[in-house]
Amino acid sequence: MSGPQPTTVELKGGDALIIVDVQYDFLPGGALAVPQSDRILPVINNYIAAFEKRGLRIYMTRDWHPPDHCSFKEYGGPWPTHCVAGTKGAAFSTELKFSLPFTIVSKATTSDHEAYSDFSTTDFEPNLRVACVSRLFVGGLATDYCVFSTVKDALALGFETYLLLDAIRGVNVQPDDSRKAEQEMIRLGAAPIKLQDLAL
Ligand SMILES: [Zn+2]
Repeated sequence: MSGPQPTTVELKGGDALIIVDVQYDFLPGGALAVPQSDRILPVINNYIAAFEKRGLRIYMTRDWHPPDHCSFKEYGGPWPTHCVAGTKGAAFSTELKFSLPFTIVSKATTSDHEAYSDFSTTDFEPNLRVACVSRLFVGGLATDYCVFSTVKDALALGFETYLLLDAIRGVNVQPDDSRKAEQEMIRLGAAPIKLQDLAL
């Protein structure tokens, strides 16, 4: 593995927590359930608490598709219908506990456009820049798709990026997909950390 190997990470101004697509359709029982994805919920709550304690920004991103989205099998895509805007499946898990407001980022909101990366939305990067965010801490679903694409774009845009290893789960269409995605993100410069690496 290359990339920085953190010991203890002190959170500071300019840090932001990016929670990718923790929506019911990606949780057990959902239309596109990611195996064991519910196990990350209590871990993410610990990250939320750590960021809220310091008044740091939290971004909740979501797949927010029209009913005829091009990623759905019915319309020629690879996935079952999932995360249709306004449905229960597209809602954030209510097991995530917030005490403070967070920012919502919706992606892949038009029929003919698929987007795995949060940066595919035109306002996400400007929003981060205006807020003087320089370090991103990325967790959520799924490791091998939206987390992967978001982290790659974040690194390419020059954000110092931490991958929350204990707060991600993958789809694994092929059994090794998540492991390979993790390795690639780290190779590109993402720093892998776990909750215990944060100075709480
Ligand atoms: Zn989707």
